[in-house]
Amino acid sequence: MTSTRHRRHQHVELVDRGRLARDLRRAVAGEVRFDPGGRALYANDASIYRQVPVGVVIPRHEDDVAAALEVCRAYEAPVLGRGCGTGLAGQSVNAAVVFDFSKYMNRILELDPHGRTARVQPGVICDRLREAAGRHGLTFAPDPATHDRCTLGGMIGNNSCGTHSVMGGKTVDNVISLEVMTYDGTHMTVGVTDDVRLGQVLEAGGRQAEIYAALLRLRDRYAGAIREGYPDLPRRVSGYNLDDLLPERGFDLAKALVGSESTCVLVTAATVRLLPDPPHHSLLVIGYQDAATAADHVPELLGGEGLIGLECFDAGVLGNLDRHGEHVPGMDELPDGSAWLLAEYGAGSQREANALVEAAKARTGAGTPKVFEDEAGQRDVWEVRRSAIEYTRIPGQHAGLAGWEDAALPPERLGDYIREYCDLVRRHGYHTVLFGHFGQGCLHNRLDLDLQTADGIANFEAFLAEAGDLVVRYGGSLSGEHGDGQLRANQLVKMFGPELVGAFAEFKAVFDPDGRMNPGKVVAPYNPVQNLRLGTDYEPRQVETYFAYPEDEHGFADAVNRCFGIGKCRRTSGGTMCPSFMVTREEEHTTRGRARLLFEMMSGQLRGKGWRDPNVKRALELCLSCKGCKGDCPVSVDMATYKAEFLAHYYRGRPRPRQAYALGLIPLWARAASRLPGVANTALAAPVLGRTARLLAGVAPERRAPTLAARTFRRLFAEHEAPGGGRPEVLLWPDTFTDHFAPDIGLAAVTVLEGAGYRVRLPGRRLCCGRPLYDYGMLPTARRWLRRILDELREPIRDGVRLVGLEPSCLAVFRDELVNLFPDDADARRLAAQTRTLGEFLSEVGYEPPRLERRALVQVHCHQKAVLTHDSERDLLAAMGLDVHVPDSGCCGLAGSFGYERGRRHEVSMAAGERVILPAVRDADDGTVIVADGFSCREQIAGGTDRRALHLAQVLRLATEHGPGGPPGRPEDACRSEAPKARLGLAAVGVAAAAGLAYALRRERDSR
Ligand SMILES: Cc1cc2nc3c(=O)[nH]c(=O)nc-3n(C[C@H](O)[C@H](O)[C@H](O)COP(=O)(O)OP(=O)(O)OC[C@H]3O[C@@H](n4cnc5c(N)ncnc54)[C@H](O)[C@@H]3O)c2cc1C
Ligand code: SF4
Ligand code: SF4
Repeated sequence: MTSTRHRRHQHVELVDRGRLARDLRRAVAGEVRFDPGGRALYANDASIYRQVPVGVVIPRHEDDVAAALEVCRAYEAPVLGRGCGTGLAGQSVNAAVVFDFSKYMNRILELDPHGRTARVQPGVICDRLREAAGRHGLTFAPDPATHDRCTLGGMIGNNSCGTHSVMGGKTVDNVISLEVMTYDGTHMTVGVTDDVRLGQVLEAGGRQAEIYAALLRLRDRYAGAIREGYPDLPRRVSGYNLDDLLPERGFDLAKALVGSESTCVLVTAATVRLLPDPPHHSLLVIGYQDAATAADHVPELLGGEGLIGLECFDAGVLGNLDRHGEHVPGMDELPDGSAWLLAEYGAGSQREANALVEAAKARTGAGTPKVFEDEAGQRDVWEVRRSAIEYTRIPGQHAGLAGWEDAALPPERLGDYIREYCDLVRRHGYHTVLFGHFGQGCLHNRLDLDLQTADGIANFEAFLAEAGDLVVRYGGSLSGEHGDGQLRANQLVKMFGPELVGAFAEFKAVFDPDGRMNPGKVVAPYNPVQNLRLGTDYEPRQVETYFAYPEDEHGFADAVNRCFGIGKCRRTSGGTMCPSFMVTREEEHTTRGRARLLFEMMSGQLRGKGWRDPNVKRALELCLSCKGCKGDCPVSVDMATYKAEFLAHYYRGRPRPRQAYALGLIPLWARAASRLPGVANTALAAPVLGRTARLLAGVAPERRAPTLAARTFRRLFAEHEAPGGGRPEVLLWPDTFTDHFAPDIGLAAVTVLEGAGYRVRLPGRRLCCGRPLYDYGMLPTARRWLRRILDELREPIRDGVRLVGLEPSCLAVFRDELVNLFPDDADARRLAAQTRTLGEFLSEVGYEPPRLERRALVQVHCHQKAVLTHDSERDLLAAMGLDVHVPDSGCCGLAGSFGYERGRRHEVSMAAGERVILPAVRDADDGTVIVADGFSCREQIAGGTDRRALHLAQVLRLATEHGPGGPPGRPEDACRSEAPKARLGLAAVGVAAAAGLAYALRRERDSR
């Protein structure tokens, strides 16, 4: 075996990558990536392994797959398929040419609701198929936890299963036929093969006949061993499905290939079975003292009518959520206990579903039961179960690695297995929480493995061997869900015996005699502790950084290593993360892709260019700095911060692109131009001059420039008459955008705060939090501006005065970047703690809002979602009597300066906006109040629709001024505009511009 591996390595080295890439480019219509960045992106998956591919092919269609295989054949280059790359056993990475099916080959080709089948390409995301089937009351039953991003190709590769496998089985049970390609280019459609079909294939001759004949021989030779050696388990995922070749199973080649993890064929299309989806559900939750006891009671629930899911999680899952600072409402609704069984029943009506649950409840003998009949309650409890795996990794505390995470046992023996397994985990010094698909005997858990020291790795290897022995002793399957890859494959012999493992090798050789398909996985496997992502030689570069990364022990290196590859950032809908991937569908534009490239940069893998690495730079180009990842990623990968850090170093000592000076320094321009706002507005609106200015500044020609107000908010505030009397004081933050472009919002906030009984104060000097600077990594300047703020506000900060802000992205600087740049400054921490959004402040002081009985469509700023809170604002709007609708719209797309930039950024910006929020605004009726606190969101809405969004402050003032009915017509028409009338010469703008630029260039010289 060792020599096979040695040959394989030698071979990969020998492949002439340059010529292979050139020939692939000539042969395929799709994309070919052989650059260091492109390869690094596919070097990791969600497992503990890392293997840099030879290169990447992104085929557009089946012909591309055939053409690329032909070229790879000529170079004897190994290959493997890839979907979302969430494999957990190392089967989705290899030193091979990766075929990424997710970008183009992702169409549902046919859906036949009557025949209850669908024909799909391998890159179709599981949820897209489920949604399409759902329109006909049908579903695709296997639903892995990654269902919102994993692909059918990957599900077939892994033989995936999920919660509803109790109802509909594993992927193998739902595959009717597969269209596959072998390494030698044979293209065939395989499925159940009756004698007539078999006769036809054999008679036709050729390679397909050869394959069928060889498989027949193999089946006949091993039929006895297969019938005896395959455990009868609902979740046997380990090993090839040789049992599906048996005559009693119809010599089903499609099923035999499901779960073969790219080691035999590439799947180019699949026809799958769809099942009726019971429309009504009811949920029985039973609390027990621990997971083992819960497992003991599983048999009481099995076999009951209408059971569609039977899951478990223990109290450790709640602890993990707590440690992440996450609160899922379902946590509070659980009955007493420290582990819970969730038995879900489905039926044609709610009454029937409820009756099924009651019958199940009567069958159970122990535990504390609680029934959830309402949809919302059920959803909340399921959310706790769903979050189990995602929150296992706790940076700095628990590595949450996939070590032995999906063994499956006969369900009736699961309890005893868990007791022994927990003992084993303890003996090896690991800690874990338990959850899983108990109805099918499958136990999940993540381990805090040490894979960076020789002792740690030896301990892990010993643990794996003992865990394998334990599973086999209980008659279980090493894998009950995630496949063998290289993590478990070396133990298949324990489970199946040498004869059947020999049959696996023969099975693979029928399709792939030279071992070019995903070598080292399943058959003739790598050792489970080879190819580790972090091994004993992991030694990230030591770097000095601007940010302190106080939550990551080893600073930036640990921060970019937070990502554990689970691919949530590859969702194509829902949440904020990651808008750039949602538009481009490129791994490079996921949070994961960017984090992985930074990881490679830090571990010196990207040709050692360090902070000047062009691959990292390119991947960050389309990052919107929206902080969606900080909020949505379970381990809070904060790409906006890493991007600012990277750019600060990348540009150190050299000039930045012109946009950085035009848009990153917008606070300076705004201040200069606001001396003659009419001139500036006229200049920017003038056809030739405006276009030229935009061109020079790198601004998209399609964007309208925001209009400067005739008088700044600070000026208007100085003129306003403050109420007298001894009122408590509040500091209002006059951010650049409010001050120069939207003073009406500032005035509205003053009206509201004074109406609430406060005396409003503004900082004595003009200050700016520097938000736009971060987008361009102008961190020395950002630090200087923040220092100025701390100096200026020290007194009110120390007096505990609340700072109320109107622009969420500016407040996010105070809560987030400020403490990251000044971790040891007590006043920075005080300011962060005393900063409030208007909504937060008003609800804290018990403000009673005026009524406004309209519908409200709300776009929440991404930074608000990630760093601040929105609940108080939503509650406030609801308390006004508004019918509040907050669509799951994610990022509006403008994202500070991002969407203003010409070219690709503008395109991505518009596509992100067009996903949800812009159509939603266009669909809103005239009476609907469009609410957006973020300046960017309001600009995006104003530019992409014929509506104007209002700030919460304006909505509150509107209600006060117009009463519950609000103003007639569109609410925004009743709000004042502050556009200036003056139209003077242009010289002043030029002078201001030159002065601003000189200032900028001088100050942005990197002084740390
Ligand atoms: C947080 C988390 C939770 C998970 N939960 C579950 C779960 O509940 N149930 C479950 O079953 N799994 C689970 N998994 C594992 C994994 O997500 C699923 O198995 C998923 O279906 C894999 O899909 P993918 O698109 O990511 O496949 P990939 O990882 O890209 O590929 C998986 C395998 O399929 C092969 N492959 C991909 N495309 C093709 C093709 N066209 N032809 C041939 N082979 C191909 C790959 O080479 C690889 O061997 C989980 C993983 C994570 C990270
Ligand atoms: S960035 Fe976060 S969500 Fe994306 S793969 Fe990494 S850990 Fe998962
Ligand atoms: S900041 Fe936004 S665009 Fe950038 S990686 Fe995170 S989610 Fe994606």
